[in-house]
Amino acid sequence: MNILLTGGAGYIGSHAAVALASAGHQIVVFDNFCNSRPTVVDQIRALTGQPIPVVEADLRDTAVLLGALTTHGIGAVVHFAGLKAVGESVAKPIEYYANNVQGTISLLQAMQAKGLKTLVFSSSATVYGDPQYLPIDEAHPTAATNPYGRTKLHIEEMLADVARADPQWRIARLRYFNPVGAHESGLIGEDPNGIPNNLMPYIARVAAGQLPHLNVFGNDYDTPDGTGVRDYIHVVDLAQGHVAAVRYLLEHAPGLYTFNLGTGQGYSVLEMVRAFEAVAGRPLPFTIAPRRPGDIASCFAKVDLAASALGWRATLGLKEMCESTWRFQQRAAGL
Ligand code: NAD
Ligand code: UDP
Repeated sequence: MNILLTGGAGYIGSHAAVALASAGHQIVVFDNFCNSRPTVVDQIRALTGQPIPVVEADLRDTAVLLGALTTHGIGAVVHFAGLKAVGESVAKPIEYYANNVQGTISLLQAMQAKGLKTLVFSSSATVYGDPQYLPIDEAHPTAATNPYGRTKLHIEEMLADVARADPQWRIARLRYFNPVGAHESGLIGEDPNGIPNNLMPYIARVAAGQLPHLNVFGNDYDTPDGTGVRDYIHVVDLAQGHVAAVRYLLEHAPGLYTFNLGTGQGYSVLEMVRAFEAVAGRPLPFTIAPRRPGDIASCFAKVDLAASALGWRATLGLKEMCESTWRFQQRAAGL
């Protein structure tokens, strides 16, 4: 099938492009490169041996989207494009609503105009807000604690309305937990601009000597070692989850489906530091800093639904997450 990947040059989209192409699909990348580089597409081409057409445009340009859907004979869309930094969303809510919500409306309009009704959407565990119980299953109540999370929730609700209004739509809302790691080649990975917000890329830069030390945001949480616990999932496993979700949509009755994509296993900040130290073979300096506003103690997924319905489970462990991150980081840093 010809599949359009909005945001296909980004961190998760690029890994999904490789996985979907390896599963036999023809991939088209649609990206405005506001948070990625065109060279990523060259790497996807190198890894897949596919020509991988690129449409460089903003998602909100519905006419260009329509043209892309037609020209490339698209049969399904996987929608990654969006802005994703929580702190930035607090400072720039209008940009976040415009990009994420308006961008998705534009996509839905273009798809509707083409009669194209198969969509996989990148959602996030952030839609669960402050966990009321653990592990978090898909029936957990939703809530948003910041503008980024609210855009995800708005989009999820829009998609539910679309599926209700027209039962021919096939929509999968995939709620990612904490994606980390990189492709084993070291050619693609997570390379945020400026100082990373997320733990893993921050650790990687400390290990590479590009940042002096890690700030551990709080060691007085109600967790085994006092530091925050998250469900880190290898991006290559996550990418395979998209292959499974596309297959599921094509093989099942139309409708709206929602799946957690995580490992079900939580690790603390200090466990992540120790695991990375072991892989990089060097100590990682860190200091205990105050809690980060808005952070929660623990968050990890119940993953049974994805396992039973999609036949998908994460297979890569913490060691592979750290090894692949380190390989990518060393390459990126020219070490
Ligand atoms: P990313 O920033 O690396 O990739 C997003 C891509 O979308 C980038 O290539 C960017 O240039 C592109 N883009 C953004 N706005 C666009 C627009 N208006 N038009 C065209 N292209 C546009 O982010 P990622 O980590 O790969 O995340 C992908 C998706 O997964 C996002 O929707 C994000 O919210 C979601 N998600 C990410 C995480 C995470 O921790 N990385 C967790 C949960 C959910
Ligand atoms: N964290 C940290 N130092 C950092 C970045 C993150 O201690 O520089 C902690 C954070 O408090 C949380 C965990 O690492 O407990 C994961 O944070 P991240 O921002 O990667 O993901 P999210 O908050 O979205 O789960």
